[in-house]
Amino acid sequence: MKILVLNAGSSSLKYQLFNMETSEVLAKGNCERIGAGGTVTHKRPNSDNYFEEIELADHGKALERVLYLLCSEEYGVISDIKEIDAVGHRVAHGGEQLKESSLITESVVKYLETIIPINPLHGPPAIAGIKACLALMPSLPQVAVFDTSFYSDIEDFRYVYPIPYEFYENDKVRRYGFHGTSHRYVSAELAKILGKPIEQLKIVTCHLGNGSSITAVDGGKAIDTSMGFTPQEGIAMGTRSGSIDPTVVTYLMKTKGYTPEQMEDILNKKSGLLGVSGISNDCRNIYEAAKNGDNRAELAMKILVNGIKKHIGSYVAEMNGLDALVFTAGIGENQWNIREAVCENMEYLGIEIDKERNKNFTRGIPFDITKEGAKVATWIIPTDEEYMIAIDTQRLASQN
Ligand code: AMP
Repeated sequence: MKILVLNAGSSSLKYQLFNMETSEVLAKGNCERIGAGGTVTHKRPNSDNYFEEIELADHGKALERVLYLLCSEEYGVISDIKEIDAVGHRVAHGGEQLKESSLITESVVKYLETIIPINPLHGPPAIAGIKACLALMPSLPQVAVFDTSFYSDIEDFRYVYPIPYEFYENDKVRRYGFHGTSHRYVSAELAKILGKPIEQLKIVTCHLGNGSSITAVDGGKAIDTSMGFTPQEGIAMGTRSGSIDPTVVTYLMKTKGYTPEQMEDILNKKSGLLGVSGISNDCRNIYEAAKNGDNRAELAMKILVNGIKKHIGSYVAEMNGLDALVFTAGIGENQWNIREAVCENMEYLGIEIDKERNKNFTRGIPFDITKEGAKVATWIIPTDEEYMIAIDTQRLASQN
């Protein structure tokens, strides 16, 4: 079975074509600057990358170009679109109703349209990607995989915010959680690696990238997570503030005269590691600057590490125990220094890592960094959201 996985952003369309029999990625790439010019980077294993600048007026045109490249004699990996068996779409938000990956029907698309107000950035491009596929490949099964659905079993006292209840009831303001596909993938992978039924494991998964979230996975189900109504809540991120006292927001708006849009821009794009360090949103640059004695870079690192520790601790409390801790995504998979700092002084919780293994880890594969004899298994597990989407798509398309 060949599955095309699509991830549409506001001006981008990422794609991967999987051969599910071999779990191979046949080709992948990214269309960028959609609606404002257009570029495509197309990659195949063991071949040079192909790059082109080409007018991409909308997501439909971008998808047409992707399908052309996938089938082209020169850059292609299949000879006809008909070889694609199903399409899986990454959809950030499934709202309250779409609680699991779903075959796309008219009613699914209609529901996604109704929740655009709570998902204004990611909703419209995801819907555009789905509609483009329906127009170009109408007879193909299409599946939507939601970042939020891993959290559909979270209990109400963990997702209802302590503000007037009517904002939840009428306006759907609540914790939704994000990065669910990644947390679901790495927790399942870890259970496989440990050779234990996931139903018996209490795991904290740390997805640490430019956007970061931490999730408590008890018995294979997410029971709590750091991101909330939007991906803004939780720990400090590359450019996002994470959780702060909400009165800071109204205070700054009142005293500085910021509009809601300006305030959102500050909290989303000018805060986090960038905002504190004044240097960069990239952890590598901040680590280097901190090593060279930059106080604000050091402060940014400390804020990040402290946020991660606090979440791990609170999730151990919520689950009444911990069997395993997982690090994933750009920072989690690559930055040994952050992993080391997070796991420092955590013996009380049973977390102890082998510092040498942590520092000299092998990139790109699941890697055990547990100190011998430690109660909690600590692993680096490379995330693969696209593969997880392909697996769900295969499952649902086969039942179709
Ligand atoms: P992501 O959003 O998952 O792509 O992660 C981005 C973050 O991961 C940035 O803060 C980078 O500093 C970090 N990162 C990505 N790749 C590497 C790498 N090879 N070595 C160290 N840090 C990395």
